[in-house]
Amino acid sequence: MKKFDLVTIGGGSGGIAAANRAAEYGAKVAVIEKDLLGGTCVNRGCVPKKVSWYASRVNEAIHRYGPGYGFKAENVSFDYSEFLKARDGYVERSRAGYTGRFEKNGVELFEGLARLLNSHEIEVNGETIYAENIILATGGRPSLPDVKGVELTDTSDDFFNWQTLPESVAVIGAGYIAVELAGVLHGLGVDSHLVVRHDRPLRSFDDMISDALVEAMAANGPTLHTHTNFDEYRQEDGKIACYQNGERKLLVDRVIMAIGREANIENLGLENVQVELNEDGTVKVNDAHQTATPNIYAIGDMIDRIDLTPVAIRAGRQISEFLFNNAATSEIDYINVPTVVFSHPAIGTIGLTEKEAVAEYGEDDIKVYRNKFFSMYASASWHREPCYFKLVCQGPDEVVVGLHGIGEGVDEMIQGFGVAMKMKATKEQFDSVIAIHPTGAEEFVTMR
Ligand code: FAD
Ligand code: NDP
Repeated sequence: MKKFDLVTIGGGSGGIAAANRAAEYGAKVAVIEKDLLGGTCVNRGCVPKKVSWYASRVNEAIHRYGPGYGFKAENVSFDYSEFLKARDGYVERSRAGYTGRFEKNGVELFEGLARLLNSHEIEVNGETIYAENIILATGGRPSLPDVKGVELTDTSDDFFNWQTLPESVAVIGAGYIAVELAGVLHGLGVDSHLVVRHDRPLRSFDDMISDALVEAMAANGPTLHTHTNFDEYRQEDGKIACYQNGERKLLVDRVIMAIGREANIENLGLENVQVELNEDGTVKVNDAHQTATPNIYAIGDMIDRIDLTPVAIRAGRQISEFLFNNAATSEIDYINVPTVVFSHPAIGTIGLTEKEAVAEYGEDDIKVYRNKFFSMYASASWHREPCYFKLVCQGPDEVVVGLHGIGEGVDEMIQGFGVAMKMKATKEQFDSVIAIHPTGAEEFVTMR
């Protein structure tokens, strides 16, 4: 029987990162992956999404902003199949990079479905292997609602396999994926509809952000349908008809369901080990990412923390640091994790929303600074595209506990502010930095 110091089940963001870090310290490591190496992020998430977002931005630059700068957008055509070749080629190259890194580090890759037999043995392709430590990193998949005709709809996974663009699309959901895909499709010229069941998308974000997103969408974006909850989908006139209470509300070529994701825990052999689940079906772990069986860890989208690639990577690496490099802990800090929604314009956020800060510290202890201005990039082209920024500060020293922005360039703006917030920077320290002019970022250090 082959024996390993560490086996990761799942070769996505978390599993790969943990495996490489452990192997760098000389551990004998294997990764088991049932599908494409790279997992969600590389194959059907962050990477093809971001390239698609760039494509929609190029289209916007040509048709929306270019003319204002004197460019004539005549006889411009877009070949989606050419774009797919470029996008998917990039994805394939990224994936190949992982295989190369495994070879260099001596990580053994098993291509097949992993099933736990007990707390140390795993079955893959009929073979049983032994692992001193196991990291479960099987990620998640799109959730589907229990409604009639749901089989007519697609998910984000399907979107990345589309070979042609439809003329019209309805994206159902109100989170990151719904907002991003509806925006990308609108930006590529598809008649896009974002369908949310409450009053706005991104309700868990700071109100300023979701309000501004709604405003931006009304000016140039997908058509927003609020308080809408389709309960049936039917094939009609070669399209998909979306019904609510028996009334046809929308007729589109395609529907994408983006209502959240659920953990991949099936067929994993969890019944053979002591691993507890949370109510939402994610795997229960302690702060050290241990399941109820201490040598079995779980990370990434299959646990109930933050579903982002860098978070899965950090957790995976930290466990390897703990197991193979004498790190004191396999815990990571889930506070002040910067995150970006690749919407149009982009959204960036770190830390507490204004409401969360008030709930945690009390209204008297919180001071909020806001700024609204117009993006110079858009203004020079005669469009007035607002940027909204907010700093949420706490206590007499005004420690910045929340930073929120929506506007041109925000996606590339906030990483460094994340460092400042980790260092518990105060408003005064933000202001002590001389601004870079003319940029949008300077507004974060000049708010009054
Ligand atoms: P995954 O990357 O999902 O990897 C899990 C792997 O486990 C998969 O390859 C799966 O095939 C494999 N597996 C499952 N069960 C088994 C088994 N029994 N045996 C063997 N293998 C198994 N995050 C960001 O930070 N930025 C973004 O811009 C971003 N965009 C996204 C866009 C979309 C459309 C989606 C869906 C997600 C996006 N995310 C983004 C989230 C990010 O992709 C995930 O947080 C990240 O991939 C989670 O990593 P993971 O290692 O937990 O799981
Ligand atoms: P999210 O959890 O972000 O959002 C899903 C939302 O859909 C819910 O919050 C809810 O909003 C709405 N919803 C839930 N059920 C239904 C329903 N039955 N009908 C209609 N709407 C419903 O999930 P996503 O799938 O968008 O993304 C999963 C995670 O992946 C994200 O949370 C993020 O962590 C990660 N991700 C990160 C990206 C990035 O970093 N840029 C990009 C994409 C994904 P409401 O209650 O308001 O209706």
